[in-house]
Amino acid sequence: MRCEVVAVGTELLLGQVVDTNSADIGERLALAGIDSYFQTRVGDNEERIATVIGEALRRSDAVIVCGGLGPTQDDITREAIARALGVPLVRDAAMVASIRGLFEARGRAMASNNERQADRPQGASFIPQVRGTAPGLVCPAPGGGVVYAVPGVPHEMQEMLERAVIPDLQRRSGSQQVIVSRTLRTWGVAESALAEMVAHRVDNQTNPTIAFLASGIEGLKLRLTAKAADFDEAARLLDAEEAELRAILGDLVFGVDGQSMERAVAELLTARNLSLGVAESLTGGLVGARLAETEGASAWFKGSIVAYDSGVKFDLLGVPEGPVVSAAAAAAMAEGACRALKSTVGLGITGVAGPTTQDGQPVGTVFMAVAYGGATEVAEVHLPGSRPLVRQLATISLLDQLRKRLLKG
Ligand code: ATP
Ligand code: MG
Repeated sequence: MRCEVVAVGTELLLGQVVDTNSADIGERLALAGIDSYFQTRVGDNEERIATVIGEALRRSDAVIVCGGLGPTQDDITREAIARALGVPLVRDAAMVASIRGLFEARGRAMASNNERQADRPQGASFIPQVRGTAPGLVCPAPGGGVVYAVPGVPHEMQEMLERAVIPDLQRRSGSQQVIVSRTLRTWGVAESALAEMVAHRVDNQTNPTIAFLASGIEGLKLRLTAKAADFDEAARLLDAEEAELRAILGDLVFGVDGQSMERAVAELLTARNLSLGVAESLTGGLVGARLAETEGASAWFKGSIVAYDSGVKFDLLGVPEGPVVSAAAAAAMAEGACRALKSTVGLGITGVAGPTTQDGQPVGTVFMAVAYGGATEVAEVHLPGSRPLVRQLATISLLDQLRKRLLKG
C-alpha cells in the first residue's frame, strides 16, 4: 500500500504557513506501516490541484489531500478532486441540513456559502465532521485507488486522520499487524556522533527500525518502531532493542517517550530522598520553572533564587567579590543555594546570554555547578545561538549535569 500527501494552499507556497500537516501525516503513515514516497504542496488553483492529484494516483494507491475544504471561493479541493476523477460534483441535501444544524446549535445562521461544503464528487462518501463544519471525503478512484480529503486546520485534520483515514487505509491494505513506537531521548551528544555510535544497530536492523529525530532544545531522539502480530510481541522486540542501545549509549539516554529531563531529575532526587535548591543568573528562573513543572515537585524542590545582579550574588549567596561569570562564582552560588534554601543538593548557573560579552567572556560561555555530598562540581560549556537559545540550552545542560552527578551516586 502506497499513500501520498497533497497539501493545498497558496499560503503554504508563500511561506506564510509552515506545512506541518504533511509532516504529521507522513509520521502517522510511517507508524501505520504504509509506504509514502511523495509529498506535494500546491496553491489554490483548481487545474493545478487536479493535475497533482492525477499524478499522485498514477504512482500511488491512495492520496490524502489536506486543506481547501472551507466555504469560501478559494476553497476548491472538492472541485479539483471531482475534476481529477472525471466525475461531477453533487450537492448532498442531507449534509446541507446537517451543516445547517451545526450552525443552529451554536445559535448562528448558516451562510449560503457553507452549502458548498455539502458537495461531494459523485461516488464519494463523507467523513462526518466532529470539530469544524467541513466533512471530509473518501473518493474511490478508477483502478481501485482512493482519494481522501481532510481539512487544513491541523487539529481538525489530525482528528479525521486518526478516526477515519488511517483505519480505512489499514483495512484496504489488509494489514493486521500492530505498529508500536518507543522513543529514547538523549542529551549531550551531537547528531553525527550519536549516529556513529549506533550505526551498526541502525544499519542491520529492520524490526524494530531506528530513526533519528533532532528535537532542538529537547535533544536528540532515537525512535524505535516495531511491527508485530500483537502488542506483547512488539513490546518484546522494543525491550530487546532498547537494552542494546542503552548498553551503547549509557547515561546519554535520559528518558523514554514523554519523560522530560526535569522528570528524570525528579525521579533520581526522589529515589535518593534528596532536596534541591537553585541559584540562577543568566537563566533568570527558567531552571526553577522547568523543575516546578513536574508533578509533586514540592516533595523535593525547595526553590530557586534568581540572583541576577552581582550584589545579590555577593550578599545573598556569599559569592566572593570578583568576576561573576566564573567557575568560582558558579560554585559559590550552588553552595549558597544549599545554605539559603536548606537543601541537600544545590545548583548554580552563571554565564553570558548575549548579545554583548561580559567579564571578558564571549557570548554563550556558561559556568554550571552542582553542590552535593560535600563536593562541588563545576562545568564550563560554550553554547551556540541567540540569547533565548543560550538561556534554554543552559537550563537543560544544568539539569543534565545534575542528572549525571546523581547517577554517579
Ligand atoms: P477553513 O474552513 O478554515 O477554510 P480548510 O479546510 O479550507 O479550512 P485551509 O483554508 O486550507 O483549510 O486552511 C485553514 C488554515 O489551516 C490555514 O490558514 C492554516 O493556518 C492551516 N493550514 C492549512 N494547511 C496547512 C498545512 N498543510 N499545515 C499546517 N497548517 C495548515
Ligand atoms: Mg480555507
